[in-house]
Amino acid sequence: MSLSGAARKKTSATDRDAAPTDRPALLLAWYDRHRRKLPWRPPAGERADPYRVWLSEIMLQQTGVKTVGPYFEKFVARWPDVAAMAGATLDDVLRMWAGLGYYSRARNLYACAVAVARDHGGAFPDTEEGLRALPGIGPYTAAAIAAIAFDRRTMPVDGNIERVVSRLFAVEEALPQAKPKIQQLATTLLGPCRAGDEKSRAGDSAQALMDLGASICTPKKPACSLCPLNEDCVARAQGMQETFPRKAPKKSGELRRGAAFVVTRGGELLVRTRPEKGLLGGMTEVPGSEWRTEQDDKAAFKQAPELKGVTRWHRKVGVVTHVFTHFPLELVVYTASVPARTRAPEGMRWVPIATLAGEALPNVMRKVVAHGLGR
Ligand code: SF4
Repeated sequence: MSLSGAARKKTSATDRDAAPTDRPALLLAWYDRHRRKLPWRPPAGERADPYRVWLSEIMLQQTGVKTVGPYFEKFVARWPDVAAMAGATLDDVLRMWAGLGYYSRARNLYACAVAVARDHGGAFPDTEEGLRALPGIGPYTAAAIAAIAFDRRTMPVDGNIERVVSRLFAVEEALPQAKPKIQQLATTLLGPCRAGDEKSRAGDSAQALMDLGASICTPKKPACSLCPLNEDCVARAQGMQETFPRKAPKKSGELRRGAAFVVTRGGELLVRTRPEKGLLGGMTEVPGSEWRTEQDDKAAFKQAPELKGVTRWHRKVGVVTHVFTHFPLELVVYTASVPARTRAPEGMRWVPIATLAGEALPNVMRKVVAHGLGR
């Protein structure tokens, strides 16, 4: 039954649940014609490589497709399979990851590669349960790998799928409380399953929904006229597409402030490595103060590194701003230059500015260095 025309009255998700529908088949037919070409996807009809699926899913966890593409290519060129990555060092992986953000992903990526090579003979487990036991693989990623690489009959629900499903069924409950309901509704969109074959085309169904969310059912101005499910979409029938998914108001973190010290010795820069655990763990940074909400400039400045030869700190005009998931940050940048042969304080080191691109510098530090060096 179509919801167009006279039937455009408010319809609840429960009404729609009971309606017979060929949404899964429509979705797969659309996918066969319009699937996106992505570096980690094999040509249509070919089996996906679990290593490439895993690597792309970890990279895509908090980063968009456009940014991930070149990183993905770089990673598979250097480490064509999981055993090759397991043979690298954590530092190698962090360096290659630099700039992608959310660095705990890189540490888990490496730990996972080592675990797969050591405990599973280099082959990823083919069940959600087995995948979830690996470092860095949560419920969503396990479902995505199980569906896409192994055609397990499960539906991973990412932000794109959440949006499509919440619109298709007009889910009134707000996120994140609505997640279980959306998960259950999304599962009804899995492709048909032949008797005795629990695999079917689950991976294609999931990727079809991801593609639909990315290209047609976009957050603003969804292109409903091109959507294969438009005849059967409750939000469209209500003219309320853009109001879904409903969201609980966000609490944003408080602004934190601090100071960063850009010290040069000729063509070298003073850096240190952040502790393994915690925010930006194991990454490279210039010395700096703590980042606190109650930070005043004087207290932050007092945390400058003690260096013989610094006669004067120069405070750069302006601040460097960066937004982490849980808080925004503002850093005042001080610069100084020291004579040749000045020793680095304990726990710090000099690195050539010319080779900084090869350091595991997170984005916030790239901004700081660029500001400090006037680039
Ligand atoms: S009809 Fe429009 S709102 Fe509904 S699923 Fe398709 S693109 Fe999204």
